[in-house]
Amino acid sequence: MGDCLFCRIIAGEIPSQKVYEDEKCYAFRDINPQAPVHILIAPKEHMRNITECAEREDDLAGSLMKAAVKIAKAEGLENGFRLVTNNGQDGCQSVDHLHIHLMGGKKLSERMS
Ligand code: 5GP
Ligand code: ZN
Repeated sequence: MGDCLFCRIIAGEIPSQKVYEDEKCYAFRDINPQAPVHILIAPKEHMRNITECAEREDDLAGSLMKAAVKIAKAEGLENGFRLVTNNGQDGCQSVDHLHIHLMGGKKLSERMS
């Protein structure tokens, strides 16, 4: 966990463009955006992915989704947006700290795989 990239971003050790923060989550702009708006919503607590998150007793997964919708509204994505979380090898997850991608600001591709 000590060398987790997103833990370090959340701790402020590595700079990021923060767009939102609450007691449970931290959201920042993706360094390599794939849409005009591309934001990552991550829990402040380290967990590997949505599978690990879903094993919890609390509703952190729901809180992250609610934060994502709040951010989408604040970003003016009233025309629509996409939420994605890549999970594991087949999901092409490249950073092993749970994050939800929020993408929008244009008509997105119909293909998702
Ligand atoms: P994944 O492939 O795990 O679903 O998504 C990881 C995302 O993190 C990628 O979209 C990638 O561009 C983004 N990313 C990787 N390193 C950094 C970084 O240092 N800062 C920011 N803001 N985003 C990063
Ligand atoms: Zn982490």
